[in-house]
Amino acid sequence: MTVQSWRNLRAQKYQLTFRLFLFLNLVSSALSIFSPIYDSKVFPLPATLIAISSGALLLWHWRYARIRLNVPIISVVFGCLWAWHILSKTHTLPSINDNFQLIALFSVLFVGTIAFSNNIVAFSLHSLPTFIVCLFTSDADQWWRMAYCFALPLIGIAIQHVIQRRNDRFAQGLMYKLLEERETLNGLSMLDPLTGLYNRRGFQFRLDSLLALGDAQHAVLLLDIDHFKAYNDHYGHMMGDQALMRVSAAIRNSVRSRDIVTRFGGEEFMVLLPNCDMPTAMQAAERIRQHIYDLKIPHMFNASVATHVTVSIGIAPFSDSNIDTAMQMADKALYEAKNMGRNNILTSDHMPSR
Ligand code: GH3
Ligand code: MG
Ligand code: MG
Repeated sequence: MTVQSWRNLRAQKYQLTFRLFLFLNLVSSALSIFSPIYDSKVFPLPATLIAISSGALLLWHWRYARIRLNVPIISVVFGCLWAWHILSKTHTLPSINDNFQLIALFSVLFVGTIAFSNNIVAFSLHSLPTFIVCLFTSDADQWWRMAYCFALPLIGIAIQHVIQRRNDRFAQGLMYKLLEERETLNGLSMLDPLTGLYNRRGFQFRLDSLLALGDAQHAVLLLDIDHFKAYNDHYGHMMGDQALMRVSAAIRNSVRSRDIVTRFGGEEFMVLLPNCDMPTAMQAAERIRQHIYDLKIPHMFNASVATHVTVSIGIAPFSDSNIDTAMQMADKALYEAKNMGRNNILTSDHMPSR
């Protein structure tokens, strides 16, 4: 989006410059045809060619603004036509007329300076043929004056050109930095800050990518730390946070990297195992439960279960997009696992009938 608008801005600037160039050429050539300073009574062929081609290109560019034309080539063609115009007109004037040369050079430099204020290549290509013709057709005592007239805008445009390139580089660097930071922020907004696991947003993102791959059999695990309120009440919130971090790391380390581990809220976690049948999901759940048990985080207020932190897990199968149903089933299984005394695993298809 940002890159696109930056490119659009540049393209618009290019189009405006180009149209201005054609328009100024059209006006200058029309003036030299209909209101020449020195009338030579000879048909001004090059000026007519400039008028026709600039008018036609202007109309064409209005219609097909998206097509980019090669500005240096067009500027050199127009530059040569102006040089031809000045040369042929000089020959028809009764004597060498320095004023005509100067005015002609001025008008070509004027058009180039306005239209190509920061494009040194286009400016030079457009002005150089006229400058050379004016040098050849004028007296030697005019050369310094002409060289000065040509050099002045040339230096100014060269400086503008350098400044513009620096600005462009700076803007481009800034834009890439912004994009990079946006990527990082996007990534961060998908993670839970305490545990580094996915949050619900991150889970949804990963789930969407998984479902886009097509239909398959997955499994969903819901985990809940046993008697964690008592842990918090007795050991304090800071210790509670540390226990949460260690449990999270144990869950993450017990599953494959492609499995999606999410902190779903408080002390509840969800693990989505892609392409996984129920026996394999059961094994993964057992691995997680054992890993957390083996952390041996002291929890004296979990006495009916163990003397350290434990989790209960509910498992449900999940295919196509019925994630909500699967989660309800896993939640029911988790509830039953808690009822059965905690530190337990239960699958939705092994729920005790009541
Ligand atoms: P059960 O075995 O039935 O799951 O009992 P429980 O005490 O774990 O269940 P309950 O849902 O009543 O309590 C969850 C507790 O988790 C409440 C709150 O003190 C604690 N908790 C939730 N989020 C955080 C957290 O970000 N940090 C800390 N330290 N504790 C949290
Ligand atoms: Mg809970
Ligand atoms: Mg709990």
